[in-house]
Amino acid sequence: MPVWDDLVGQDRVQAQLAAAARDADALVTAVSDGVPPPAASKMTHAWLFTGPPGSGRSTAARAFAAALQCTSPDRALGGEPGCGFCEGCHTTLVGTHADVEIVRTDLLSIGVKETRELVRRAQLSPAVGRWQVIVLEDADRLTEGAGNVLLKAVEEPAPRTVWLLCAPSLEDVLPTIRSRCRHLTLRTPPVAAVADVLVRRDGIEPAVAAAAARATQGHIGRARRLATDEAARSRRATVLRLPLRVDDVGGCLKAAQELVDAAAEDAKQVAEEVDTKETEELRAALGAGAGAGSRMPRGTAGVMKELEDRQKRRRTRTQRDSLDLALIDLTGFYRDVLALQLGSGLAIANEEIRADLDRIARASGPERTLRRIEAIIACRDALDRNVAPLLAVEAMTMALRAG
Ligand SMILES: [Zn+2]
Repeated sequence: MPVWDDLVGQDRVQAQLAAAARDADALVTAVSDGVPPPAASKMTHAWLFTGPPGSGRSTAARAFAAALQCTSPDRALGGEPGCGFCEGCHTTLVGTHADVEIVRTDLLSIGVKETRELVRRAQLSPAVGRWQVIVLEDADRLTEGAGNVLLKAVEEPAPRTVWLLCAPSLEDVLPTIRSRCRHLTLRTPPVAAVADVLVRRDGIEPAVAAAAARATQGHIGRARRLATDEAARSRRATVLRLPLRVDDVGGCLKAAQELVDAAAEDAKQVAEEVDTKETEELRAALGAGAGAGSRMPRGTAGVMKELEDRQKRRRTRTQRDSLDLALIDLTGFYRDVLALQLGSGLAIANEEIRADLDRIARASGPERTLRRIEAIIACRDALDRNVAPLLAVEAMTMALRAG
């Protein structure tokens, strides 16, 4: 069915979701016809989608939500739900369906307060649709307190409520929550399938699509960005030159500083695009006059402060995400070097810089390359633990040094 078109290389998951959507549809129809619901059903109230970044976790959750809300008349004639075109499907896919809440956070964590609000919403009956669906795209970011709030709602859901949680892996979700969800694992889609979808859906030139898919190793979102965004391509090229610049201490420190600065610049750009508008909107909503200098009504300082804190946390997260992307590209470089050193015949992701890869591969051995990859992983771990970015990245570039 068209609703599954955006899922790439996930045949098994797609089959399970389609079967569940079919049973969910039969269930709603039986209830509204006043007949007993079918005994065995593949539908359930809580789902957990896991898979590596870019595998399409939230795409799968959204497609399933659309199939659940499908109102196509073909269903009554034995057709499958998920036409992609009816009001239910369409509004879900574009994010405006009244009974589908998609929660995507740009913060590092989801707290108790937001979760209580979601749980309250989950108790409502669907207003126009067939199900009340809540998609939590970053279930790995729930704080422990928030997880406990969610637990009760997942344990005793309202009859028409469906929770769709997404997270990178099972270990990222609180055990109490994941044990109450039906688990679906998405895989990294094959490079050829990603290239194909870029050509078919985004109209990208086959050669450009193939290069972007190979370079990002099956991450659809990054592949699309790389194929369409010149700035992203040039950023990536800069990152991939780093291994050639870490010959001495001075070069290492300089390269580290540049990586961190580029990430900070990314965060600043996002902030400029979003923060000012957000602040102005809130000021207007609170009844302040136009212009940043005008007086705020009494009692609104707390709300403004809350927004500022939120914006600050978002900047931190954008910077960290951007740095992490650079480190993933760097890992890809050394993985290619390792493949050349071992002569393993593995596909090279960065074919366009083959000469650089060869040079580094000849200048060292596989053990050294493995230690370099470990240094990058250690840096990503340090950033996850909130070590100051420059400190973590400097330690890494020093460890990447030749010799
Ligand atoms: Zn539909």
